[in-house]
Amino acid sequence: MVSRVIPVDPFDLVIIGGTGDLARRKILPALYRRFCAGQMPDGARVIGAARSDMDDAAWRDFVGAALDEFAGAAGCDDRGRFLSMLSYVTLDALGARGWDKLAEMLDSSRVRAFYFSVGPRLFGPLAERLQRHGLADEGARIVVEKPFGHDLGSARALNVALAQHFDENQIYRIDHYLGKETVQNLMAIRFGNMLFEPLWNSQYVDHIQITVAETVGVNGRGEYYERAGAMRDMVQNHMMQLLCLIAMEPPAKFEPDAVRDEKLKVIRALDPVEETDVVRGQYLADGAQPGFKEHVENAESTTESFIALKARISNWRWAGTPFYLRTGKRLRARTTEIAVVFKDTPHSIFGPEAGQHRNILTIRLQPNEGIDLGVTIKEPGPGGMRLIDVPLDMTFAQALGPEAEGVPDAYERLIMDVIRGNQTLFMRGDEVEAAWAWTDPIIARWEEAGQVPLTYDTGSSGPEEALALMHRDGRRWREIRA
Ligand code: NAP
Repeated sequence: MVSRVIPVDPFDLVIIGGTGDLARRKILPALYRRFCAGQMPDGARVIGAARSDMDDAAWRDFVGAALDEFAGAAGCDDRGRFLSMLSYVTLDALGARGWDKLAEMLDSSRVRAFYFSVGPRLFGPLAERLQRHGLADEGARIVVEKPFGHDLGSARALNVALAQHFDENQIYRIDHYLGKETVQNLMAIRFGNMLFEPLWNSQYVDHIQITVAETVGVNGRGEYYERAGAMRDMVQNHMMQLLCLIAMEPPAKFEPDAVRDEKLKVIRALDPVEETDVVRGQYLADGAQPGFKEHVENAESTTESFIALKARISNWRWAGTPFYLRTGKRLRARTTEIAVVFKDTPHSIFGPEAGQHRNILTIRLQPNEGIDLGVTIKEPGPGGMRLIDVPLDMTFAQALGPEAEGVPDAYERLIMDVIRGNQTLFMRGDEVEAAWAWTDPIIARWEEAGQVPLTYDTGSSGPEEALALMHRDGRRWREIRA
């Protein structure tokens, strides 16, 4: 069964960078899946644009091959009709080529979305050319990919460049983590139930752990990653977004600015991070597998492929409850999870032999998106009162049965939100700037000191010192496992 589909009006979506990797892997398969779900209305058009010379037929072949490779099991009998919605224009973001033709093709009476699936240096010039060719009017939206800037200065410059041609309500800054089903469920769990919210504060929550662990290295993305590192690639955007959703106050309404105002307040309430509260690492070579330095082709690299840090939020709700963030490549397992670890009961009536147990609410983003709540029960059987932890598991695939199969992936949902004009799951310019303002001093400190990251083995949980970061506080990381 396919999940409920809310129809959208016919639209034009222009993928600038339509021959690139992101288009091939994510954007085009996502559109195809929405088509198969019945959400692409008749008359919708997807226009690929890039410098490569191609005609419509050649781009349709390119898209067909991309779907074969990346659309997974999704599919429908009508692929031909989907492909007939596609056309291509040769266009140069930095030159005159193709713009008149693109302007002629578009219909100003319908929603027009321009997906900037190109490097960030082209964002400003593209916005400027769209306006110059009369394509930046009210019905137009632009979608910009990460990385949104390299630091506060460059993010601000990008915001200024875009704001010269588009209003903030036309700009959709993508963070695909926000499009995940579980992330939205996090808001439903928090604000749709009476159960959790009264406990959601420093009085009852001991600490929160956010882990994004990958098993892959930086293979193939070495040049980008050497400039970015884990802090810029993961923490400043995805992990901070997750932190905001966990920590924010209930917005008055589930509306874009109400939600984004609350997220912004969280970022602004973050304390500067102490030097001793950050651990950085680089993965070592493993047999025939090259290490980080080889992958980024820089024997002197001081970029981190792993980071663990302790963040503190200075507000009434969270003062005293640390947020531990950890992300890295080539770790033991591929997993993304948030764990809300509740405090011990104030007193154990069962005596020391029953053990001390804690409730942990775990929100898994991958694999097996779902939420489980660890509760303490009596171990079944005779022999007195011994306590054990059992999960109340809400794995969506299990709970929702076939319904879960129709749940759109992050790109599907986010692209359709652009068409519908819903910015709730997109980052606002001030949020992005505030996030950089928090991470920049951390990065500057180690750059100024020429700090060399620690090392860690492939398949480990990162450098030992990351464990010590929590041990020092009398806590420990959850095991990294799939
Ligand atoms: P890519 O494979 O290098 O593709 C870049 C695209 O831009 C190509 O279609 C290229 O086609 C086009 N292009 C380059 N210069 C152009 C110009 N002057 N005018 C018009 N088109 C131009 O890059 P990508 O991996 O798809 O990444 C695109 C963006 O998404 C980047 O900002 C990246 O950071 C971001 N992103 C990518 C991924 C991913 O999984 N790939 C994930 C997250 C974010 P021509 O050479 O034919 O012009």
